[in-house]
Amino acid sequence: QCAAVCPTGALVENDATWDVVKALGDPEKTVIVQTAPSVRAALGEEFGLEPGTLVTGKMVAALRGLGFDKVFDTDFGADLTIMEEASEFLDRLTRHLDGDTSVKLPILTSCCPAWVNFFEHNFSDLLDVPSTSKSPMQMFSAVVKNVYAQELGVDRKNLVVVSVMPCLAKKYEASRDEFSIGNDYDTDIVLSTRELAKLIKQYNIEFNLLKDEEFDNPLGESTGASIIFGRTGGVIEAALRTAADWYTKEDLQDIDYTQVRGFEGVRSADVKIGDLELKIGIAHGLGEARKLLEEVRAGKSAYHAIEIMACKGGCIGGGGQPYHHGNTAILKKRTEALKTEDESKKIRKSHENPYIIKLYKEYFGEPLSHRSHELLHTKYFKKHKI
Ligand code: SF4
Repeated sequence: QCAAVCPTGALVENDATWDVVKALGDPEKTVIVQTAPSVRAALGEEFGLEPGTLVTGKMVAALRGLGFDKVFDTDFGADLTIMEEASEFLDRLTRHLDGDTSVKLPILTSCCPAWVNFFEHNFSDLLDVPSTSKSPMQMFSAVVKNVYAQELGVDRKNLVVVSVMPCLAKKYEASRDEFSIGNDYDTDIVLSTRELAKLIKQYNIEFNLLKDEEFDNPLGESTGASIIFGRTGGVIEAALRTAADWYTKEDLQDIDYTQVRGFEGVRSADVKIGDLELKIGIAHGLGEARKLLEEVRAGKSAYHAIEIMACKGGCIGGGGQPYHHGNTAILKKRTEALKTEDESKKIRKSHENPYIIKLYKEYFGEPLSHRSHELLHTKYFKKHKI
């Protein structure tokens, strides 16, 4: 399964559970954990629960039981990613519509590290096409190490950020040099969903008997938009919810962009926001992505924006999730779980997350500001063809 989804070279699952145990046992360290959106929709399967059982509250309780000092949510990072990515999209789109021929469209989402590695190797002539926004995991970790550390009064060297991810390629992403200061990486340890389950079992925590608990704040606050990052079409739908409000300057109520949802490997959706008629492409699976990228390379792409995720179904089908053996019914149940969580949220647009608003007011100023470019954006590198 991993070889099918991890063209990054992260083909072997390096078990990081012992690194977490050591960090939790070190009295000098403050250990913070963040959990990706799709983990809560699949972790329960490792404890005999039906696929599609949402275990958000039990997962938080288990992490607290393991001894993490703060239990936060990568979804907060996803909301932050949307702030930057939707801004980039609108900036490029409006300049393009104003006749600026230097602007590249479509914009490509860039939160999947397997996909980033794929285009660095195979489409290195298109490095200026993807969004430069970091992934939710890396934005979250950058904020923790550079902003939250100051609030806590803890030296970043004594802060350990552990990420629980559906993904083996996230281990590789965390180790990229651009996400570190010397040997001090923003994300210290990445656990897969399966590794978290293993740790919970090793600590003899009766997962199914746990009472639901809430994430810590402020970095545990998130919106429905961030939850749907976990499934194919979700990143672009989340971006549309924000871009549409900003473009129309309205608080739009019709925010379910069902056109971008679905399971076909490549999908095309027409979306109208205000007077704009947008064409959105969605691909899951790198073979499918290649088709869309060949069109971009040939200058024949009709799309304004394209979402690409390496795994079938998006992150709910990631290589670090409980094994699904290619069973699409399981992936669809996990997708439904994320839909339920999205619809249950009072706030479903990233730019309305109160803690995100506060973070911009107190630290970043505006999206795409100098400070956000420093902490929340990245660059890509030309690599040999594979
Ligand atoms: Fe990882 Fe998600 Fe990309 Fe799969 S789709 S490689 S789980 S980020």
